[in-house]
Amino acid sequence: MDAIGCQELLMPVINPAEIWRESGRWDKVGEELFRFKDRKGADMALAMTHEEVVTWLAAREVRSYKQLPQLWYHIQTKERDEARPKSGILRTREFIMKDSYSLDVDVEAMQVSYDKHVAAYDRIFARCGVRFLRVESDNGMMGGAVSHEYMAPSPAGEDEVVVCDACGYAANVELAVAGADQAAGGADRAAGGPATSPGGEEAGALVEVATPEARTIDEVTAFLGIAASELIKCLVVVSQERGTIIVLVRGDHELNELKLRRVIGEFRLATADEVADSLGVGIGFVGPVGASLDTFADETLRAGTYVAGANKDGYHVTGVTAAHFQAEFRDLRTVGGGDRCPHCDGRLQSERVIEVGQVFQLGTQYSEPMNARYLDEEGAERPIVMGSYGIGLARVAAAVVEQHHDENGIVWPPSVAPFAAQVLSVRASDAGQSELADRVYGELVAAGFEVLYDDRDLSPGIKFKDADLLGCPLQVIVGKRAAEGVVELKWRATGERDDVPVAGLTAAVRAALDASF
Ligand code: ATP
Ligand code: MG
Repeated sequence: MDAIGCQELLMPVINPAEIWRESGRWDKVGEELFRFKDRKGADMALAMTHEEVVTWLAAREVRSYKQLPQLWYHIQTKERDEARPKSGILRTREFIMKDSYSLDVDVEAMQVSYDKHVAAYDRIFARCGVRFLRVESDNGMMGGAVSHEYMAPSPAGEDEVVVCDACGYAANVELAVAGADQAAGGADRAAGGPATSPGGEEAGALVEVATPEARTIDEVTAFLGIAASELIKCLVVVSQERGTIIVLVRGDHELNELKLRRVIGEFRLATADEVADSLGVGIGFVGPVGASLDTFADETLRAGTYVAGANKDGYHVTGVTAAHFQAEFRDLRTVGGGDRCPHCDGRLQSERVIEVGQVFQLGTQYSEPMNARYLDEEGAERPIVMGSYGIGLARVAAAVVEQHHDENGIVWPPSVAPFAAQVLSVRASDAGQSELADRVYGELVAAGFEVLYDDRDLSPGIKFKDADLLGCPLQVIVGKRAAEGVVELKWRATGERDDVPVAGLTAAVRAALDASF
């Protein structure tokens, strides 16, 4: 952060509600924001990030374009009333974040600050030993338009990304898009199958078929002997902004709630009674043809011929194409592994990941409502254009452990190891060994290394196992050759061992650590 010109501050965790009201987040963020009252009865919040404090400060400190750009950071506790704190230190309600903020005169200048952060973050994660993907992502509660997440591939992750091996496109599945596939109307067609619906009619002719008791995707496909990809999945949802509407995705696709929310705002699934009231049909037989509700359809359904509910209890209709119904077509489905890349001919692969950091282009999302303005060269007032950038410190440590371990325990990369080396005497009861081990420990500490010393009087087996489990990059083992002043240096990552005279130990440890950067 210092290297890209970022200045360190320390901002408060306890915030007056006022600034969160000004930014709009007091109402927008739900229960995740810890709120309380002070002794005077004033509403207070525990900061979950620091956009509000930064913008408040910028409104008071920045007057002129001559003071911009500014880059500010701090390393501070964050509080979030997470719905599901879990997975040890991967998700906790209190955690430490390194967060920084950029203040710029315009969008182009913000892009420069953003790019500086991206370059710095790439270096930070590489140096921490984190294997990561930088992916396009949703801005979530932070607001703004452009955002990227730093994702560490790991089965322990809660997030999923898709990646194209051919062109490098990588995105969170929350917003990933897929290229158009010819597979619409049944995977059949792409595979050279008939362009007609399963009933054998010409595409375009609608035919009602009785499907008593067949309501779910599984039941209908089994009953008609078709693939889920030949069916239109029809959901009825209630949105505050748009009322009751129909949403269509292909039978083998999943509706992406975040994508739909971006189109229609907050929504919930309609109840069976609501469906019956608005369409006069049971939930399993709703379809787009002739439906009296506004309809949104996933892009995939522009092409192909499908089976859909007939809006008549006990019936479906075959031969349905986009020409048979009125709908607004949008990207509404969750993209997954095997889908076509939106930028090239490659195929996407999905991967589970841990989000270790995120960068946001906020624009004027905070500066406009909070009046953080500057005077430009002509003396005109303009809103400051902002960015925000966060790294979760404990989560990075957890991701490192998930990516760097073997069957014996942790294998810390030296850059982030809590201790560079662990000293252990094989037999603490042996006076020669424990004296030499004390000396070695003292010398390494004096030379500036952080060292863990296992001087417990336990069996060598337990001590060796524990040293591997804790995973310091180097182990200094004081054993049989203590009397000659020789110790054993063991590399945790490779298991390699070397006998080293104590006189040369500090230099050997330094050389071993330097070599691993
Ligand atoms: P998530 O989606 O995992 O809840 P987020 O997108 O809400 O995280 P940001 O607001 O982007 O998190 O915060 C920046 C960084 O802070 C994250 O990339 C992550 O490394 C860390 N972080 C966020 N929430 C937590 C948490 N509950 N526990 C530990 N670290 C967290
Ligand atoms: Mg995030």
